[in-house]
Amino acid sequence: MNSDISGDTLTPAVLPARTRPATSMAALSKTSSTPGDVQVRPRPVPHPGNGELLVQTLACGLCGSDVHAWRQDTGYEWVKAPVTLGHEAVGRVVACGPSVSEEWIGRLVVPIAIDGCGDCTLCTGGDRQLCRSRSVLGLSFDGCASEYFSIPVHRAIPTDSTLPAATLALTEPLSVAFHAVKRLEAAVDTCFTIVVSGPGPIGLMGALLLSDHGYRVLLMGAPRDEDQRLPLARSLGLDTVLAGETLPADVGGWLEASGAPPALETAISTVRPSGAIVVAGLFPAVPAVDVNILARNEIRLLGSYGSVAHDYRAALSVLESAPERWKSLVTTVPLSDGTRALRTAAEAGAVKVVLIP
Ligand SMILES: [Zn+2]
Ligand SMILES: [Zn+2]
Repeated sequence: MNSDISGDTLTPAVLPARTRPATSMAALSKTSSTPGDVQVRPRPVPHPGNGELLVQTLACGLCGSDVHAWRQDTGYEWVKAPVTLGHEAVGRVVACGPSVSEEWIGRLVVPIAIDGCGDCTLCTGGDRQLCRSRSVLGLSFDGCASEYFSIPVHRAIPTDSTLPAATLALTEPLSVAFHAVKRLEAAVDTCFTIVVSGPGPIGLMGALLLSDHGYRVLLMGAPRDEDQRLPLARSLGLDTVLAGETLPADVGGWLEASGAPPALETAISTVRPSGAIVVAGLFPAVPAVDVNILARNEIRLLGSYGSVAHDYRAALSVLESAPERWKSLVTTVPLSDGTRALRTAAEAGAVKVVLIP
């Protein structure tokens, strides 16, 4: 949690919230570091501290990171249990803590998932998601897979959108895809083909954005993706290819969103000299990269992590531009079935599972 918003340091006593909902709520909560110890259970409704909003959740998507936290995968030891999961949310502000304008009450907001201290050179330079003191909603502190959540006001993106809540829950993952695509587009001209490996939410959304922006795009998947994800991609107008199939000679850029080491190895051996690869997926096992090919071909290998406020605003306008298309990526599940929803997300049984309280 950021030190400047932790609550009652400015006032001797915490002021009462101006509107107060029920005191108990249902939350998808990770209770310990034991793998699988995640259940929907009653939790106290959070109290909005100084500079915070209390938000009634309308929808909250489940992310790969929620699945990793649920399974207690390697690399997620830092997650602070007990914690309410979920960061891909939209909700309506129902109460404000001290020092927040009451004009926020009633507003629809999307929370920023990853945010920094606000003061360091990374934050002031616009890369708040890269801050060395960054915190992740739903992993570093209680998230949104619950009936209510509380966030610092500077982590709220307000919107007047009238789209369904389940579609607006795509704002965060779409902002992440938008951020990665922006980094790739800065490095690759539209005359080249771009391969996107990994037809999960980020890969599929990234492929659609690149295609909208005039690139010839090939979305690459594994044979198991033929069950659902690749047919869905084709129904949305994308060209698809299976890993191992022949790729065209003019691949100038690659967006890696699978987290599978062989995909990155193929990217490095396929991208034309002077091309660029953006890595947006995290790898459970770190791949061995042939840096000699990178050097000889002057290939740029770029990371992409999370997104910042203007990516969220861009994502909101992209959602507005083709609501039916984006809605087709969503499978809604009641919050009370949260653990089943985690299993569905883990088994790639849907593109994006969205919980509805
Ligand atoms: Zn996410
Ligand atoms: Zn910072």
